[in-house]
Amino acid sequence: MALLRVGLTGGIGSGKSTIASLFAMRGVPIIDTDEIARNLSEPGQEAFSKIVRIFGDSILDEGRRIDRDKLRERVFDNPEDRKHLEHILHPRIRTIVREKLAALEAPYVIIVVPLLIESGFTDLVDRVLVVDAFENVQIQRTAARTGLGESEIRKIMAAQASRAQRLQLANDVIENNADRKRLESEVERMHQWYQSLASTTR
Ligand code: ATP
Repeated sequence: MALLRVGLTGGIGSGKSTIASLFAMRGVPIIDTDEIARNLSEPGQEAFSKIVRIFGDSILDEGRRIDRDKLRERVFDNPEDRKHLEHILHPRIRTIVREKLAALEAPYVIIVVPLLIESGFTDLVDRVLVVDAFENVQIQRTAARTGLGESEIRKIMAAQASRAQRLQLANDVIENNADRKRLESEVERMHQWYQSLASTTR
């Protein structure tokens, strides 16, 4: 059975995780590339030692695990460092996603890739589902969830693809500016759509 691979992406605080869990509640398998990256960076993993070799002990926390905030800060203003990190993680993420895909039996799968457009992972998916929210909504939700200030959030947003760039690549869009109830019905609508697509392209 051909598996329809849907890449879910969107800017910071747009609602990717919330949407992924709404799909999961409908029995849709979810592959989360952020979670894969986190697991790859755990002590004992091959990527862990490579990251520490390149970035040094200063990116470790007191328990000698990789402090993801520190690592993120370090690569943020330094494109060379970012390239190094991507060079370590991206091929491994690709391999793991492919392994997970091969083990799945379902009409379709949601692959959450926050930086789908920026990282060039588009070849791993058949369709791109963009969650779109106004910038002020992204800021408000991210501030409430993380405690980050507006200027820090804006800095992160400026380093990500713009809404326009994302929308240009989108096959499908979920708009997430309203309440959770509205979001739930949007996800249900998409779920019906992907099920029908999967059944006609099988
Ligand atoms: P990040 O890029 O930071 O990982 P994300 O895109 O995964 O974020 P979520 O974590 O799903 O976004 O959502 C950000 C915050 O906004 C969360 O606290 C979530 O509960 C809340 N949220 C998402 N959608 C809605 C909504 N429609 N109404 C109210 N709150 C929402």
